[in-house]
Amino acid sequence: MEDCIFCKIVKGEIPSTKVYEDDQVLAFEDINPISKGHTLIIPKAHAENLWEISDEDLTAVHLASKKVSEAIKKALDSVGVATLQLNGRGVNQVVMHYHLHLVPRSGGAPELPITKWEIKPGDMDTIQQTGQQIAEAIR
Ligand code: AMP
Ligand code: ZN
Repeated sequence: MEDCIFCKIVKGEIPSTKVYEDDQVLAFEDINPISKGHTLIIPKAHAENLWEISDEDLTAVHLASKKVSEAIKKALDSVGVATLQLNGRGVNQVVMHYHLHLVPRSGGAPELPITKWEIKPGDMDTIQQTGQQIAEAIR
């Protein structure tokens, strides 16, 4: 896609700090890292998000995430790696080319803001009703 910044990275028109590449995917460092080693994995073929990406490319991205997160853990001695994908503008997806964030946390580093939220029990009737609605939409 012509105006897509990540397509430009795939084509080499914009520089990136590449860490892994195969026929289907590319992994590179995020230029606004939440933590040291914040890496993005993208399909080389343009797809906006989870609703658009092909099963093959989605599989390839997630298989690569296993490989790259193992490397992050080894290289940076991480105690954990959060994986995150913002799916749609309504949840703050900014770059409209599917990407999986790998955000590591090193030992002793403060907790990541993206993994910290208040745990509050929900209303069980609402949870069950909502679950049923979603299950029916799958059928
Ligand atoms: P999202 O909100 O999930 O769409 O996040 C987009 C991410 O892409 C942000 O974390 C940005 O810092 C990152 N980003 C944007 N442009 C570039 C670029 N040229 N190279 C590396 N990362 C980028
Ligand atoms: Zn693109």
